Amino acid sequence: MTRKVLVLGETRDGSLRNVSFEAIAAGKTVAEGGEVVGVLIGQNVSALSAELVQYGADRVVVVEDEKLNQYTSDGFAQALLAVLEKESPEGLVLGHTSLGKDLSPRIAAKLSSGLISDATAVDVAGGNVVFTRPIYSSKAFEKKIVTDGLIFATVRPNNIAPLAKDESRAGEVASLSVEIKDLRAIIKEVVRKASEGVDLSEAKVVISGGRGVKSADGFEPLKELAKVLGGAVGASRGACDADYCDYSLQIGQTGKVVTPDLYIACGISGAIQHLAGMSNSKVIVAINKDPEANIFKVADYGIVGDLFEVVPLLTEEFKKLKVHS
Ligand SMILES: Cc1cc2nc3c(=O)[nH]c(=O)nc-3n(C[C@H](O)[C@H](O)[C@H](O)COP(=O)(O)OP(=O)(O)OC[C@H]3O[C@@H](n4cnc5c(N)ncnc54)[C@H](O)[C@@H]3O)c2cc1C
Repeated sequence: MTRKVLVLGETRDGSLRNVSFEAIAAGKTVAEGGEVVGVLIGQNVSALSAELVQYGADRVVVVEDEKLNQYTSDGFAQALLAVLEKESPEGLVLGHTSLGKDLSPRIAAKLSSGLISDATAVDVAGGNVVFTRPIYSSKAFEKKIVTDGLIFATVRPNNIAPLAKDESRAGEVASLSVEIKDLRAIIKEVVRKASEGVDLSEAKVVISGGRGVKSADGFEPLKELAKVLGGAVGASRGACDADYCDYSLQIGQTGKVVTPDLYIACGISGAIQHLAGMSNSKVIVAINKDPEANIFKVADYGIVGDLFEVVPLLTEEFKKLKVHS
């Protein structure tokens, strides 16, 4: 059965976030050969439509308004509901980002629809679109199908491979005029505290520090390594609670969930709540002085040693490899 599927393109600092392209790939699977319609909401966002098409959207609907300059669940819900009403799709896919996590339950409630959140894979099997999602803090996975109504899902960043960019693809871009009624909250300023450079939740490499880094300065060697590898710096709650870094870096059950290609845990014991946020990383390297530390149970590679000796050595070696490659 073919379906029309809407996919929300998420922007940050004037660019599309990678998860938008992953959501399009998921939308393609849900559409089963049907139409994938990209949706862009914001102010001055229409220029990004072409990229959504190059990554697989068949066409794009754009809702622009100065009231949509900053994300608010109220404003974006009004815009997205208007697109849903106009397009009547059978599927809707968003990224499982802060925005997606905030917006999707609101949309589901307004539509009286179900929602499969935080999917890490989408397949078609036995005539059904099957979503895989982690449960019990990623200790198990469940498979879900939608038996009635809209197939509505959010997809976890870094899990579904985007389609290859095809610059020869073209698609219609239509603007939809939506009257955005008075917003309950107006964002005056956004003060970003996230890690510098690479976005933590989308990073391919994450270098994380725990209480073992011992101070805010102790994060410096980790930042150096992250810079060399083009990665982001994360942290355990132990490090955040100790005020070594900001809570926006926290990874785990009550922090961010990351699935990078490479996760390097430095001075992190591996509490279950931390593992909940990183255990699905593709390759895990643990550096810890304690050979009995729990983190080694999930690590692909373990280094028993002092992180202040090991991390600078790794940085030097990676620098050399980069020079020779
Ligand atoms: C409801 C709830 C929610 C929670 N949510 C989260 C969450 O989202 N994320 C999270 O991370 N935690 C969370 N926690 C806290 C969690 O239980 C742990 O307390 C926390 O993860 C411990 O942080 P840590 O590993 O950095 O510190 P520690 O457990 O103190 O471990 C420090 C590690 O550093 C090693 N070390 C010390 N010095 C060095 C050195 N020089 N070189 C190498 N290794 C060294 C030590 O051997 C030790 O293993 C939560 C707890 C609760 C109750």
